[in-house]
Amino acid sequence: MSITVSNVTKKFGKFTALDRVSVEVPEGALLALLGPSGSGKTTLLRVIAGLEQPDAGTVRHSDADVTQQAVKDRNFGFVFQHYALFKHMTVFENVAFGLRVRHWPNKQVTERVHELLQLVRLENMGERYPAQLSGGQRQRIALARALAPRPEVLLLDEPFGALDARVRTELRQWLRRLHNEVPVTTIFVTHDQEEAFEVADRVVVMNGGRIEQDGTPDDVFEHPANEFVMDFLGQVNVFHGRVHDGVAHVGGLEFDVPGSRVSGETKVFVRPHELDLQRYQNGVPSMAAVVRHVTPAGSVTRVLVCVADTGMELTVELSPDRSAELKLKKGDAVFVALRKVRVFEPDYTI
Ligand code: ATP
Repeated sequence: MSITVSNVTKKFGKFTALDRVSVEVPEGALLALLGPSGSGKTTLLRVIAGLEQPDAGTVRHSDADVTQQAVKDRNFGFVFQHYALFKHMTVFENVAFGLRVRHWPNKQVTERVHELLQLVRLENMGERYPAQLSGGQRQRIALARALAPRPEVLLLDEPFGALDARVRTELRQWLRRLHNEVPVTTIFVTHDQEEAFEVADRVVVMNGGRIEQDGTPDDVFEHPANEFVMDFLGQVNVFHGRVHDGVAHVGGLEFDVPGSRVSGETKVFVRPHELDLQRYQNGVPSMAAVVRHVTPAGSVTRVLVCVADTGMELTVELSPDRSAELKLKKGDAVFVALRKVRVFEPDYTI
């Protein structure tokens, strides 16, 4: 393991920002801390960095306990959303900064800075000042500056948060490629699910100072541990249903929920792509509904339907092929089939 956080609690006055948090970050991993605003992501990153002292628990780096170690002795690199570059220094000097404070000889500084500028594909920008760069270029330089002294761990706090959507998307792909070239253990804070899924090989979902789930993007999306994760990761339709003897009853339909210990009244969750629409009742159990709205949205067509019996609105996502086949428009009568349903045991923690 590169970083091991064990049972860390951090309070600000009476407020508990981190509540017995444990997480392990393997060497060379790119891990995203994902959660809503105020869930404790930045606090956890700052505890790992040494910028905050935990009230309880430990932080280990490659097996050494670094909980009490000063920030400067940890050899970690940082990039923050608003961590401005030094305005009065050229790009070259910004990247060189961490090397100069470590007293690297001039020749090595020059070599390393050129190497980094090449890595972030800004080799011709060394003589510019930060004000002469775009926002995306500035963040790439911030990353080059953080990487220059060969940190053992890289900590990124919403590094692309201040940039516009298109630049953000480009930088995510760029960060992924960069990490493949230079696989430094990286922990990266974001509240954006798409960003976490696209960039990270592991996602830690946080809520209220606790970890709700820790797994690969596929794990947390396909097998959410609880209602919070299900709801937080993308859109979801929530039915009021009932479970009895391993069978979920939803809107007059029945589904097996094998292995579930849920019993009685419960919420039943279905993602938009787990619903299908049909023009005619074809033997598959379904609910009668009416199309309210059709939105072509790139790789999927989003259809809002209203269930006839209950008036409940559902969002359905169809593939382009399915959408072309159905040619739906507002007012069309349809039948909604549920391919997969999920139920969760209630969270009894107080
Ligand atoms: P965001 O995405 O909005 O940055 P976050 O998940 O990173 O949120 P944190 O910044 O870790 O959340 O904050 C967690 C909670 O701790 C918040 O409720 C915040 O107000 C509180 N908090 C953080 N730092 C301090 C501080 N120095 N003093 C008091 N409360 C703080």
